[in-house]
Amino acid sequence: MTETVTNWAGNITYTAKELHRPHSLDAVRALVADSARIRVLGSGHSFNEIAEPGADGVLLSLAALPPEIDVDMAARTVRVGGGVRYAELAHQVHAHGLALPNMASLPHISVAGSVATGTHGSGVGNGALASAVREVEIVTADGSTVVIGRGDDRFGGAVTSLGALGVVTALTLDLEPSFDVEQHVFTEFPLTGLDFDAFETVMAAAYSVSLFTDWRAPGFRQVWLKRRTDQPLPAFPWAAPATEKMHPVPGMPAVNCTEQFGVAGPWHERLPHFRAEFTPSSGAELQSEYLLPRRYALDALYAIDGIRETVAPLLQTCEVRTVAPDEQWLSPAYGRDTVALHFTWIEDTAAVLPVVRRLEEALDAFDARPHWGKVFTVPATELRGHYERLGDFRRLAKELDPTGTFANPFVRAVLAD
Ligand SMILES: Cc1cc2nc3c(=O)[nH]c(=O)nc-3n(C[C@H](O)[C@H](O)[C@H](O)COP(=O)(O)OP(=O)(O)OC[C@H]3O[C@@H](n4cnc5c(N)ncnc54)[C@H](O)[C@@H]3O)c2cc1C
Repeated sequence: MTETVTNWAGNITYTAKELHRPHSLDAVRALVADSARIRVLGSGHSFNEIAEPGADGVLLSLAALPPEIDVDMAARTVRVGGGVRYAELAHQVHAHGLALPNMASLPHISVAGSVATGTHGSGVGNGALASAVREVEIVTADGSTVVIGRGDDRFGGAVTSLGALGVVTALTLDLEPSFDVEQHVFTEFPLTGLDFDAFETVMAAAYSVSLFTDWRAPGFRQVWLKRRTDQPLPAFPWAAPATEKMHPVPGMPAVNCTEQFGVAGPWHERLPHFRAEFTPSSGAELQSEYLLPRRYALDALYAIDGIRETVAPLLQTCEVRTVAPDEQWLSPAYGRDTVALHFTWIEDTAAVLPVVRRLEEALDAFDARPHWGKVFTVPATELRGHYERLGDFRRLAKELDPTGTFANPFVRAVLAD
């Protein structure tokens, strides 16, 4: 490529032979039909080579397409183009008096890229972002369009698809009436003595709950409760209310974060932790995340506590969230009430990878599925064992992409027989 293209974190430089930013869907179709190897780059917020087409392949960005966002008030849905980010989508949806059920920690990410990797927010009753998708439109290798909706036998593979089926040019999402949220932050919630029932109660105390720790001590530095104002305000006796506005990464400016101290505001300005107009998280980082059955949450937290002297020196923050089960075959939350254990590391890959490996060993007993868009070292042979519907996904990939046009090295390793 004549220009250097990296992911958001800067730890991946794509080696593709060309980058294309077409301005029309016809140009997308023509480019796909002409390409032997091609991958879509969303907003580039993944931390691994999931989007890399390989040195002989083409990287396709949909960012220059007209940003289609069509709200259907009667059906209470929105049709959203393949390059649109949550920040733009949320504004339009809110302007119609409607809402998405949940958001990730940041609104900067593309919708298509997020649902492709199983991206999620938090909440015992909230599925991953892909749960809101009711229909997906995919340009396949010959340039034709396939539409797959709920009720189609193939739908279970069509949304959290790792970009392996084709170019997602549009998605239709379910909406609900708009709602307001208050964000309450508490500090110093101990792990020592915590039992599973108390953990469950804390994680269900509000619509969306996150625990943050730096693992320098066995406990959580911060608890973030996002309460819908149409739901009761819980007493929270487990930790003290914060006395100043907090950022999940110690030392980072809290101005980057969404409003706290219980000030009510629209769903899209409270459900993400970070404000659209500021850098999310720390900006200089790597991330890993493991999603495991929620019944293992406490055992897993105690296992991490057992290696915290290894983990803490490289860690900026660790976040604990919950995700409701979904039915996407490759979703890390497929078929199980899930706890998600997230790690924001310093940006030193060489130092971080051995600690990631050590962490994965500690979580090995808990059927942990790594986040598809983050740093992990779990070998593909092992990964395959975590997905009981992988065979169905393989068949779908063969049906929609028989020539392997969208199968980069990352995907080929996952799908290998
Ligand atoms: C600061 C930060 C905070 C984050 N917070 C969260 C969080 O709260 N929860 C969480 O679960 N994850 C989180 N992530 C991870 C992030 O949500 C995922 O990596 C997600 O995939 C990013 O979307 P993207 O558009 O940037 O995808 P990219 O990295 O650009 O692409 C991801 C995959 O999607 C495919 N893809 C993208 N667009 C299309 C398309 N139109 N058609 C077909 N395939 C496509 C790509 O080929 C690739 O395989 C965070 C990441 C960062 C950097």
